[in-house]
Amino acid sequence: MRISAPQMGNLHIMLDDLFGRLGVEYVQPPPSSTKTLQLGAKHSPEFACLPLKINIGNFIEALEVGADTLVMAGGHGPCRFGYYGIVEERILRDLGYDFRFIMLEPFSDGVWAFYKVFESLSPGLSIRKLWKILKISFSKARAIDRLHKRALQLRAYEANRGDTTRALHGAEEIMAAAHTAEEIEAAASESMAVIEAVERDSGRDVLRIGIVGEFYLLLEPFSNFGLEETLGQMGVYLERSVWVTDWIAPNSNNVIYGYPKKTIEKKAEPFLDQNVGGEGRETIGSLVNFAEMGFDGVIQLLPFGCMPENIATSIIPRVQQEHDIPVLTLAFDEQTGRAGMVTRVEAFLDLLEARRRNRPGAALKPGTAASA
Ligand code: SF4
Repeated sequence: MRISAPQMGNLHIMLDDLFGRLGVEYVQPPPSSTKTLQLGAKHSPEFACLPLKINIGNFIEALEVGADTLVMAGGHGPCRFGYYGIVEERILRDLGYDFRFIMLEPFSDGVWAFYKVFESLSPGLSIRKLWKILKISFSKARAIDRLHKRALQLRAYEANRGDTTRALHGAEEIMAAAHTAEEIEAAASESMAVIEAVERDSGRDVLRIGIVGEFYLLLEPFSNFGLEETLGQMGVYLERSVWVTDWIAPNSNNVIYGYPKKTIEKKAEPFLDQNVGGEGRETIGSLVNFAEMGFDGVIQLLPFGCMPENIATSIIPRVQQEHDIPVLTLAFDEQTGRAGMVTRVEAFLDLLEARRRNRPGAALKPGTAASA
């Protein structure tokens, strides 16, 4: 069996580890590219969300390099995510591909069904062994998320452009090679030390921006033209509201983000008191959260036509007014170009700097590069 899944940020490191432990060969699709998107857009309904189109491209590319089994996360409404897997499977079969398709429904939907999926991949696997495997793979993924979070915070201070990104790649390689619990623990410290060792100018006055929005757009750099790296290299300290291991973890404590889902929902409540699907409510709650933390601004990312984020977008002006925080909303589809996005981001940063000049006390003090 040669199994594959869509590309999304650093998820492939975790999947490689997880399937390896289950004795199944993992086929990483080629990194998402313009070709991936063109393939996906060509074979998807025009009105489908951008992530679905990129997923289709990933699956086609994975099948072309020898995958015979595809796995996709399941889910439920109220947005279209619950239909993703069904639609994707149908499109690929209509194209003539022969493969096994696995929908992995959330752990919270039923432990037995969740277990049976893994047991079908690795016959004889006990629940106890599966639990041990998930726990150790998850610990590795957590450590990788911590590295990425620290890189978002520190890139703004790097003395030499690109050093943080290079260090992050090196740190990921250290993590990828770790296998036992002891190795993972040692690799987590070693790889974090690699990030911390990047030469930096801690006295630099930086803008602080929170990134909120739709899950996939936040986690897959290809879909947002590497916005986080671009912002970091423009000297912007970043915090992000969505992390892959926070999403997977069944307890919703949001350990990487640092604010439990319940806390964020409470902050959203005066503006939006119900689940609208995706991250719509979390976007509003996190906007309030970043405003309360004194951030200079917030950037919301969404796929064009994303229902939950469009609901959030329509509420944002009220939040902005009450919390006095500038927000830039960036919507992406296959027609979006990088140059236009960068121009809008540059104009937004100019606006934030102008606000800073009028509020000199709000500047980040030297040496306050916060820790993860
Ligand atoms: S959250 Fe938005 S982009 Fe994601 S599936 Fe739902 S509607 Fe589509």
